[in-house]
Amino acid sequence: MDNAKEPDRSALIRAKLASGELPNAKPEKVWGGKGTGQRCSGCGRPITAADVEYEVDLPAARLAMRLHQPCLEAWDQQRTNFPPKDFPRKMDAA
Ligand SMILES: [Zn+2]
Repeated sequence: MDNAKEPDRSALIRAKLASGELPNAKPEKVWGGKGTGQRCSGCGRPITAADVEYEVDLPAARLAMRLHQPCLEAWDQQRTNFPPKDFPRKMDAA
């Protein structure tokens, strides 16, 4: 239960939501799997094979991101605090 309180992680994800670096769109699909060493979109640390990696599909933001489980939870809890934003990097916006 070490993950119950991680203000750094929570603050980092909150800041990324505020800056738009992380989307606040509702995920369409979330897959869990074994980490492959890729960086977490939330905390920026690698998701190792000892961690569970969650791949989050965000069609509204036209991207997928990978998160640790606690990062996913922090993101999912906090994203609703931010008003919906347009995603300026939509690929189909001419
Ligand atoms: Zn993370």
